[in-house]
Amino acid sequence: MDDSDERWGFTTRAIHVAQEPDPLTGSVITPIYQTSTYAQEDIGVHKGFEYSRTDNPTRNTVEAVIASLERGAHGLAFGSGMAAESTIVTLLNPGDHVIAGDDLYGGSRRLFSKVFEKYGLCFDYVDTTDPDAVHAAVQPRTRMIWIETPTNPLLRIVDIRATAEIAHEARAILVVDNTFASPYFQQPLTLGADVVVHSATKYLGGHSDLVMGVAVTSDEEIHASLKFHQNAVGGVPGPFDSWLLLRGLKTLALRMHAHESNAFAVARALQGRPEISRVIYPGLPDHPQHELAAHQMRGFGGIVTIDLAGGEKAARAFLRKSTLFTTAESLGGVESLADHPAIMTHASVPEAVRDEIGITGGLIRLSVGIEDEADLLADLEGALS
Ligand SMILES: *Cc1c(COP(=O)(O)O)cnc(C)c1O
Repeated sequence: MDDSDERWGFTTRAIHVAQEPDPLTGSVITPIYQTSTYAQEDIGVHKGFEYSRTDNPTRNTVEAVIASLERGAHGLAFGSGMAAESTIVTLLNPGDHVIAGDDLYGGSRRLFSKVFEKYGLCFDYVDTTDPDAVHAAVQPRTRMIWIETPTNPLLRIVDIRATAEIAHEARAILVVDNTFASPYFQQPLTLGADVVVHSATKYLGGHSDLVMGVAVTSDEEIHASLKFHQNAVGGVPGPFDSWLLLRGLKTLALRMHAHESNAFAVARALQGRPEISRVIYPGLPDHPQHELAAHQMRGFGGIVTIDLAGGEKAARAFLRKSTLFTTAESLGGVESLADHPAIMTHASVPEAVRDEIGITGGLIRLSVGIEDEADLLADLEGALS
């Protein structure tokens, strides 16, 4: 980080870090370097770019921006959130033990249990909202603790600072999936995390038009290993998607404000409705971890999860009637989306586990978009009636 990076606020960094006008043409916008390879003046003599899996100027720019937004030293971009996650898992060795949250993104759990267990890694899923449970799960070979906060879809909050202390005492690293909060609302590295990972497909991109992942760290050794594996394994994004992400990041703060303001309105409007047995939003004072959320986050995000009293039948009717909340997987775009976790995003989580943690048939995750508040409230009213 240079000192302008220290001095500037969040949005100034999103717009200006590593984005000086192009020296060749004056182009104000970072060009899309849609190239796989780079001419060498002489054998081995080049301008720092040899092959685009290793380095590409458009990708390197977005990596610098996301590092700055997460207050980290190094950012790395990947072709999806899962590519970022699987690259982070390459930090481990056979026999290593990982403590992971029991309420993770379904694909993360699938990656761990269906892909990496067969390489001799051991995963335990615990309620990471309880630091004592995390502490109790530590084993001599525990090398990584993997948390998500707020969790998906139940929006439980994990104490990042307390979990980092447990990890470091065990000589393990703490990985935080910061997809739901975005760096605008939460910066886990400043709370002791070692690696932050995102599905950039969601809020970072923000427009539901790309699939990408990022990882950020300030640890030189971790960065060197991740950078090596980014190239060696090869899960990199293309220049055009990297450019779309750069474009999305410039309005991240504006979008997060709008998402949060609408999410608050939706949560308040739905609370106390007889058709809904539970409204989960960390910004509501009755959320069991509201205090912790208020303490470690700068805002409460744009996701509201509701549990319809009428179960799956009511959930189906609600999703059919809503016109502004499109039934779709994913979240974090400007348009409102609704997900039925039990049948859609979390279908890969075993039913017994879903029941245990509360992913019921009536549960719907609303990714509240940035449409006009009055229109969203009227649409939800209509869907409930
Ligand atoms: C979507 C998502 C992922 C996976 O990211 P992809 O970009 O879909 O590969 C990981 N974690 C969370 C919290 C997500 O929402």
